[in-house]
Amino acid sequence: KQDASSEDAAKDDSDSSMVDVPRGAPVQVIDNDGMLVEDKLQDILMAPDVQDKKVVLISVAGAFRKGKSFFLDFMLRYLHKTADGGAGADKWLGPGEEALTGFSWRGGKERETTGIWMWSRPFIRALPSGEEVAVLLMDTQGTFDNETSMKGNCTVFALSTLLSSVQVYNVMTAVQEDDLQHLHLFTEYSLQVYEGGHQKGVPPFQNLTFLVRDWSHVDSHPWGNEGGAAYLNGVLAQKPDQHPELKQVREHVHSCFEKLDCHLMPHPGFEATEDPAFDGRTSMLRPAFLPVLKAAVESILSPDKLVVKKVNEEELTATALLCYFKAYTALYAA
Ligand code: GDP
Ligand code: MG
Repeated sequence: KQDASSEDAAKDDSDSSMVDVPRGAPVQVIDNDGMLVEDKLQDILMAPDVQDKKVVLISVAGAFRKGKSFFLDFMLRYLHKTADGGAGADKWLGPGEEALTGFSWRGGKERETTGIWMWSRPFIRALPSGEEVAVLLMDTQGTFDNETSMKGNCTVFALSTLLSSVQVYNVMTAVQEDDLQHLHLFTEYSLQVYEGGHQKGVPPFQNLTFLVRDWSHVDSHPWGNEGGAAYLNGVLAQKPDQHPELKQVREHVHSCFEKLDCHLMPHPGFEATEDPAFDGRTSMLRPAFLPVLKAAVESILSPDKLVVKKVNEEELTATALLCYFKAYTALYAA
């Protein structure tokens, strides 16, 4: 079942029948209403070389058409190209003419589909301690354009926050009050199911990384992680004269996550956003974009940066994660 024809087919688009192609494919594991697609998730997490390993679950969440899948595909590229851990690990971005594949960006059927998608093949990586872990990538998307979409989306975002060890929150141009309000809303929603087993004094969620696309105010904060951290500090600062609601949102975000981080990304260049023939090759990206992209991906996926998923201080194996997926989705369905 791992023949060449199925691998070719996987390049076109995602389909549930392609779960077992060698390189993997995006698979919907939670649908638009927050319902679990249990057999699909089970295939991924209960694979023999995965089930007993601890998991690192990286989720990228946000609205449509903001370059989430594009970024995810560079994370995939990193994971594929550095798989042997050795030589050339620094050159994983290139060659410049290679088309970008994986989660389908700018097209393909998951584009219009809300819900949670997971890469079907976990990546087995070694932590600095030598322990092998399974790295999972998730694409979480939604719209916030009307009230009905709001409830389903809230569930989907809440689930991805509950289940991931790193939540990458993808926003355009700046971290706006709207983005924070949405974050507040869906983390409140996450807490509703988490509260039961919640240990006091331990933040319920792990890492939250803001990925700000098309950042242009380089005069105030430079691109990258350092500029991002300083920028985020300013955005999340609580000021005495702030409206109570704004204060509350900030308090909430600080108390919910173990670690907050931010990357300010340059615009990728107009060839990338306007040329219909653009296939994701890095040679067509604005040169300034590349080092920032590389650093952002490595700050999440380098062996020393991998964050194992924990619930109440306990590290989860893939088998345990599957139980949490079942339990949490059942609670929302109830
Ligand atoms: P998603 O719906 O959030 O997953 O967005 P996609 O990854 O499918 O990308 C949608 C479009 O945005 C594509 O045409 C990409 O080339 C483009 N794109 C990718 N990254 C960026 C970015 O950082 N800024 C802008 N403006 N466009 C981007
Ligand atoms: Mg997408």
